[in-house]
Amino acid sequence: MKQKEVYIGPSLNLETQKMVDMYFAIKTVSTIEGFIYSEEEFLNRYKNTYSFNEFRNAKFYAVYEINDCKTCQNSFHIIVRNREELYKFLQSGDLLCNCCEIYQSNIANNFGINFS
Ligand SMILES: [Zn+2]
Repeated sequence: MKQKEVYIGPSLNLETQKMVDMYFAIKTVSTIEGFIYSEEEFLNRYKNTYSFNEFRNAKFYAVYEINDCKTCQNSFHIIVRNREELYKFLQSGDLLCNCCEIYQSNIANNFGINFS
């Protein structure tokens, strides 16, 4: 899983944009990608600032590339709005691209099979 880009709503003020940058800032250590700042470091730095409120309601997300769909092995992109969502994706293991996911849920609906 690799971060491709971070989208930040253009109407956010500069300070909030910087916060989003910091929140999703990553570094790669021996091929493992991780966040530079821990959630705690981030909160300690910003929780009492005026921009923190805007940050919490702000429109932003990161796009991640998944190398291979479990079914068709194609790479695909997912969107995460925060670290919790990212960790959920990381833990779920069986990641399917949109096409395969729709296909599987159709089969599941038709035959009453639950794949998950
Ligand atoms: Zn697929």
